[in-house]
Amino acid sequence: MATPIGNMGDITLRAIETLRHADLIACEDTRVTGKLLARLGLAVPLVAYHEHNADRAGQTLLAQLREGRVVALVSDAGTPLISDPGWRLVRTCRDEGIAVTALPGPSAALTALQLSGLPAQPFLFAGFLPRTAAARRAAAHDLALVPATLIFFESPNRLGASLADLAAILGDRPAAIARELTKLHEEISPGTLTELAERYRQAPARGEVVLVVGPPAAQAPAGDADIDGRLAEALAGGASLKDSAALVAAETGRQRREVYARALRLAKRAAKGGPAE
Ligand code: SAM
Repeated sequence: MATPIGNMGDITLRAIETLRHADLIACEDTRVTGKLLARLGLAVPLVAYHEHNADRAGQTLLAQLREGRVVALVSDAGTPLISDPGWRLVRTCRDEGIAVTALPGPSAALTALQLSGLPAQPFLFAGFLPRTAAARRAAAHDLALVPATLIFFESPNRLGASLADLAAILGDRPAAIARELTKLHEEISPGTLTELAERYRQAPARGEVVLVVGPPAAQAPAGDADIDGRLAEALAGGASLKDSAALVAAETGRQRREVYARALRLAKRAAKGGPAE
């Protein structure tokens, strides 16, 4: 049987019992899980299983599982498989009829959502945003019209830049930064995307962070004049045609293609020196 178990400082009694009875524990970093086992007074063989060796180590684990051994899968933090390796192993177990169960425990994404004060459902967990600004903005474009609270993992070094990109594409939505969850310096910082971008531009975050962004505001349908006004404002602020259209589409719920066509017309008219209709 394969059993994913979380490991974020909090651990359930069921997880401890499962570890005690496992034949093998697959973990990201054997030093991290070794310390956990030492604290629990357990001595179970550990196998490193992480994103760099998941294919090879996965085969080793499957061979053990096929022989009827009990393998527990542990992550360094939070819930295994959530931005951590493991889903392919679970799928193979399912395909081969090997029993799999999960032991719910701490999850940085869900803990951040709980503490954010933002609507708890529907929500969409989007994992890490891409590293480059262009790819990040493209990812934000794809999420702009999703009527849900959005949850992202982020590196503290990129937090300010990511917040600024999200503000540019999603509009100035309410958001919250959840830092060092379940640890000594746990902190929740609420604010709008623009406020938080400014704050973390000036003083980068420390430790581990989750970014939670509220859903787009439900509004009365925007008229064409309103759309053009918002577009003119975004373009005057220096945003590109594409970003302006995405922002206004996200703010108004109108089709991005339609808003882009209006933005194009506005830009052409402005280039000719004509009035905005
Ligand atoms: N599987 C883990 C989980 O479910 O929590 C997440 C692993 S992912 C590789 C690491 C990212 O999770 C970090 O960069 C951060 O965004 C988030 N994270 C993990 N632990 C955290 C904590 N204690 N406080 C805030 N964010 C955390």
